[in-house]
Amino acid sequence: MTHRPLDIAVLGAGPTGLTAALLLARDGHRVTVCEADARRCQDGSATPRPGVSQFGLPHVLLPRWRHEMDAALPDLVPALLTAGARPVNLLHLQEPGTTGAARAGDDWFGTVAVGRAVLEQVLSNLAAGDPNVRFRFATRATGVLPSPRGERCLGGLRTEDDDVPADLVIDAGGGHSPVPGWLHDTYGIPPQQRRLGPRLTFFCRHFEDPGGPLPQAGPILTHHPSWSLLTLPTGHRRFAIVVAATADDRALRALRDPDAWHAAVESTVVGRAWAEHGRPVSGVLVHSAADAVPAEAGPAAVGRLVALGDAQTVTNPLLGRGVTIGALSAVTLRDSIRAADDVPEALARYQSGYAERVAGWVDSSLWLTRHRVAELRAQAAGEPYRADDARWAMTVALRVGALQDPVLARASTLVGGMLADAAAVFADPEVRNRCSRYLGAPATPSSPVGASQHGAVRPTPPTSPIGEEPSTTQGAHHVHLAR
Ligand SMILES: Cc1cc2nc3c(=O)[nH]c(=O)nc-3n(C[C@H](O)[C@H](O)[C@H](O)COP(=O)(O)OP(=O)(O)OC[C@H]3O[C@@H](n4cnc5c(N)ncnc54)[C@H](O)[C@@H]3O)c2cc1C
Repeated sequence: MTHRPLDIAVLGAGPTGLTAALLLARDGHRVTVCEADARRCQDGSATPRPGVSQFGLPHVLLPRWRHEMDAALPDLVPALLTAGARPVNLLHLQEPGTTGAARAGDDWFGTVAVGRAVLEQVLSNLAAGDPNVRFRFATRATGVLPSPRGERCLGGLRTEDDDVPADLVIDAGGGHSPVPGWLHDTYGIPPQQRRLGPRLTFFCRHFEDPGGPLPQAGPILTHHPSWSLLTLPTGHRRFAIVVAATADDRALRALRDPDAWHAAVESTVVGRAWAEHGRPVSGVLVHSAADAVPAEAGPAAVGRLVALGDAQTVTNPLLGRGVTIGALSAVTLRDSIRAADDVPEALARYQSGYAERVAGWVDSSLWLTRHRVAELRAQAAGEPYRADDARWAMTVALRVGALQDPVLARASTLVGGMLADAAAVFADPEVRNRCSRYLGAPATPSSPVGASQHGAVRPTPPTSPIGEEPSTTQGAHHVHLAR
């Protein structure tokens, strides 16, 4: 902004609101953050977080997040490491037999494993140390202030305590942001419809990590007939194992039972390696979520307002992209404001920056979820999933090949880590050629907990020995791809 520092009101102190606040304050703008929940305890102990229902679930920060933050907020990752985060390399959580020896450039796949509470605490501590940031924790925003500048223009936020006048309002209020409702109340603008994707249910247990090297058993996301498995280090001597299934899969609701959950997890090589690595410290936490995307993309219906993170679009948690997409959007907004002469120009620049840098990741997440959910449903019904989509066929070929071929393991982790989109990865003739060897290969191995054996997730041991899994694939399939 070539003119003057802006007054900016941020609704929500989740990862996206905090990242945006810190970036903009460091550019000299005066930022007020309104957060309904209380501030995190400084001693790291738990504070209730009713504003974020998924707070207790693990959050992977993708390598792209780390690279963006290293460039934009270079003190953040070191502060996380000091606070107990653990450096992890997503590629090298896989078997050395799959990835081959470490190669030059593999650092690119590195990130930090951190609990969400500590992520927010460190971000808010950094922001609180900036004289340009004012926090209003335990302060619910209750409406928008119309601007004297014009009828369809925001002038700030109303809170339960007072008004926060602002040149720009950032809605980082998450997937249930109240802002669209306020626009309706204030301006009669009908709330923008959101298209909801298929709902997935996550069955999660946290474990205590005894220390030492982490299991190198497979990628963090593996796919099995009718369910997927996430095995995530979370820092602070903890890790988490999550089983994901479609919410309409009644048989897999049995996974609420810890014995059934363990039977399923331990029926896979990757799940068993992680489950044996530590001691469970939680019961089975259950959470459901779906994509939620604005029906019409485009600028906000009023001026001087921008929605970031989950307030704009919720993507399927299976891909672990939400925090990275929020951070990427915040960096894009910071860059747009830097380059513009005034707020309207900054927001116009943000729209095109978002289309260029962020929208493709959202689109690919929706596309992947649609296919994977259809595949899960087919598998639950004991049928093969047939999609007339060459891009999906290549995605599955990469997913299968990545478990056996070091070049494809790297290609797949590039896409899964949001470091390169699938179009860029498949533009490499070597990747294309190697992938073509796996075209038509079974999408998931014949796991002991297959569609015909849904009963195996009930509180009985798996019906087939673990050794029946194909050893080359670790009973597992790689990772989320693609665009
Ligand atoms: C089960 C599950 C697992 C996930 N796993 C991952 C993962 O591994 N990696 C990943 O990157 N993402 C993951 N996600 C997605 C991730 O949680 C979201 O993308 C992320 O929380 C978005 O952050 P945000 O700051 O935009 O919104 P939120 O985290 O939802 O924060 C919104 C904030 O706004 C506040 N707020 C709302 N209304 C008001 C109001 N009226 N006044 C004041 N404050 C208000 C809320 O209290 C909250 O603090 C997962 C999601 C789910 C459901």
